[in-house]
Amino acid sequence: MKILIANIGSTSFKYRLLDMTTEATLAKGGFERVTDYGDAIEKSLAEMKASGALPRLEELAAVGFKTVLAKNVLGCAELTEDVLKAMEEMNEVAPSHNPPYIAGIRKFREKLPRTPMVGLFETAWWMNAPEAAKRYAVPEQWAEWGVRRYGFHGASHRYIAERVAKLLGGSNLRVISCHLGGSNSIGATLGNRGMGNSLGMSPQSGLPHNNRVGELDSFAIPFLMKTHGLTIDQIVRSMNKEGGLLGISGVSNDVRDIVAAAQQGNERAKLAMEVFAHDIRHWIGAYLVQLNGADAIVFTAGIGENNAQLREMVCTNLDWFGIRLDVAKNEAYQRGQESVISADDSRTKIMVLPTNEEIVVAREVKKLLENRK
Ligand code: AMP
Repeated sequence: MKILIANIGSTSFKYRLLDMTTEATLAKGGFERVTDYGDAIEKSLAEMKASGALPRLEELAAVGFKTVLAKNVLGCAELTEDVLKAMEEMNEVAPSHNPPYIAGIRKFREKLPRTPMVGLFETAWWMNAPEAAKRYAVPEQWAEWGVRRYGFHGASHRYIAERVAKLLGGSNLRVISCHLGGSNSIGATLGNRGMGNSLGMSPQSGLPHNNRVGELDSFAIPFLMKTHGLTIDQIVRSMNKEGGLLGISGVSNDVRDIVAAAQQGNERAKLAMEVFAHDIRHWIGAYLVQLNGADAIVFTAGIGENNAQLREMVCTNLDWFGIRLDVAKNEAYQRGQESVISADDSRTKIMVLPTNEEIVVAREVKKLLENRK
């Protein structure tokens, strides 16, 4: 069974073709600075045909998407017109994510009208979290309208939790996973139940992101509007494009540039990394309490796997919990490996694991197709 996973960004398109009998990757590729998803899809299908990975389109069992958010759709779902409309209803909450996905999925449906399109929503892993972890203290009517903590990055946090269970053995493990990349979140998983995620109602919440604001007191918005005369559109734009690590550092939305500037003495860049580490620790602390400890704290994604200095900033000074980093192992870590970087006497394993969101999506798509038969 061949399943194509399409990863659609606001200006990028990446794909991976998987053989779901063996879970082998048959082809992968992608395009940056995409202006026309139809064109990127055509080119990707042509590449897969030329390489022999997908000689005939009929061989494709489904196209899977790591969709972000839809009104009242939380799990894995066929992307019918109704589901796309439910995604559109949440465009205001995920303005950088939902519109490109909807456009890309519609293009795919034009090109492959007989192939099922299936989305695993990023909220899925948190569906069964305790109600108290999902509810904001808002009027009941707002909660009914969908103002609540959904949590995102579900495919990645799920992959990490399942990988930890395989690597460490045992059941009902308490895993705190730190997905640090373009978007950032901390997740808590107990066994096979997602318990909580630092992302709340929108992918703009929780930790600072590359250029999107994280946690923000909601009363900052009327203050900016009424006292400083900003319009809601200006505020939303700034929260989406001029916030996060870019906003604090004033340097870049890429941690590599921020670290380089900090090393040259740029105080704002230094502060950006300190805020980032502080907030990551804040969430790890919250989940250490919620899970009553942790069997593993795991770092993953572009920053989590590449930035040893940040990992050290986060894991320093946790002796009271019995959590101890092995500094040499942390510095020696090479991207791509699955490694334990805690000291031998650490009560909690600190690990770095490459994530694999595509395989989680593909497995759920396969399950949905099999259940339909
Ligand atoms: P992701 O979205 O997981 O691909 O992560 C992207 C982010 O990872 C980039 O914005 C960078 O800040 C960070 N990153 C990627 N490569 C490196 C690296 N070699 N060193 C430090 N950070 C990196």
